Amino acid sequence: MDERKYMPLRGLPADRGGRSPSGEGGMIDAQLSMVRASSTAEAVAAITVDAAFHAGGTELLNWMRLGISEPALLVDLGQVEALRGIARSHDSLRIGARATLNEIGQNDEVRKNAPALSQACLKAASPQIRNRATIGGNILQKTRCPWFRAEAPGQTAMPWPCNKRMPGSGCAARESKFSKLALYGASEECAATQPSDPAVALSALDAIVEVSGREGARLIPMTEFHLTQSEAGSAVTETTLRQGELVTGFRIPIDAAAQRSAYLKVRERESFEYAMVSCAVALRLEGEIVRAIRISLGSVAQKPWRLRQAEKELLDVRLSTGAVDAALVRDLSEARPLPGNEFKPLLAGNAVRRALQIAGERS
Ligand SMILES: Cc1cc2nc3c(=O)[nH]c(=O)nc-3n(C[C@H](O)[C@H](O)[C@H](O)COP(=O)(O)OP(=O)(O)OC[C@H]3O[C@@H](n4cnc5c(N)ncnc54)[C@H](O)[C@@H]3O)c2cc1C
Ligand code: SF4
Repeated sequence: MDERKYMPLRGLPADRGGRSPSGEGGMIDAQLSMVRASSTAEAVAAITVDAAFHAGGTELLNWMRLGISEPALLVDLGQVEALRGIARSHDSLRIGARATLNEIGQNDEVRKNAPALSQACLKAASPQIRNRATIGGNILQKTRCPWFRAEAPGQTAMPWPCNKRMPGSGCAARESKFSKLALYGASEECAATQPSDPAVALSALDAIVEVSGREGARLIPMTEFHLTQSEAGSAVTETTLRQGELVTGFRIPIDAAAQRSAYLKVRERESFEYAMVSCAVALRLEGEIVRAIRISLGSVAQKPWRLRQAEKELLDVRLSTGAVDAALVRDLSEARPLPGNEFKPLLAGNAVRRALQIAGERS
């Protein structure tokens, strides 16, 4: 650890125009220190309950501006070499948590062995943000639910109810026409979705998340990293990462299904927009017969949502429109749409059909 800088944020405008929603100033009034870790061990040792890891800062600094998070200390990961890089061994890819979305998207080994991940990274955000945004920070981003993202720096009361921001206050979104809410795993408390594109690809690729904490290192399957609200039993808890644990990297098994993977993102405009629904598939075919298949939906739950039933039903079956339609019935009938997203099960089904078609046509 080479420095501890004091960063006075007093007087920093809460938005670019320096206005609060009430027009009453909206200044962040905080004192912040930063330490720069030079190894994983230093980063883990430096973290405390009121500190946060700082990678690219594209999410964290927004949370601080909005008042979602108010850490007293930032532990900067910018000089931790072990978190960098993308390497291929004979049967897996290892991606450091600090690899940026552009580095991953443009990497030849990722393009060849896990194309769904490359495509998901390159469909996220804008080129400028992708140059800075890391994959570790990406899977830890929070919902885009506008009530959660209300600008309320330093306020003890929110302008509207949001159980995720202020437990017990209620949920303004549930009765609204907001379309980016969950179909699966939501609770009465919260129906927010996880908006990450790369997380959906990592889920379909059966990736493993490497984490390190004071109690040592451990591995978490990507499919168990995020939690739905029903699994978490609260609107606030979103992952199985423990307090103070650092994500160090991702392991992606290389198999024929991963090499024939594809990512499809459905959104309201073609760039710089979060998904309405997305789908990642990994597929191994023998002739036209499905020998391995993994299907994950994005923006339909607070975690990438694997379609386990459809995966089972399509195994050892000839890949055809009829077989896919029949296989999807059960998973899609379990969707629980809200007033603003009743169209989403249909959209999700179409996204799966198209993603499988793209993967199936890949040589
Ligand atoms: C305008 C805009 C548009 C966007 N559009 C998209 C989109 O279309 N699709 C999409 O998927 N994403 C999108 N994003 C999200 C973007 O990809 C994330 O903000 C980014 O990947 C976060 O990475 P970061 O390195 O900046 O994280 P930071 O902001 O540094 O950190 C985010 C959180 O993760 C924690 N953290 C970071 N690294 C680690 C680690 N190694 N271990 C443990 N905790 C860690 C931090 O403490 C913090 O809590 C968009 C963001 C913006 C600002
Ligand atoms: S859906 Fe969740 S994040 Fe959105 S307002 Fe309701 S509680 Fe808040």
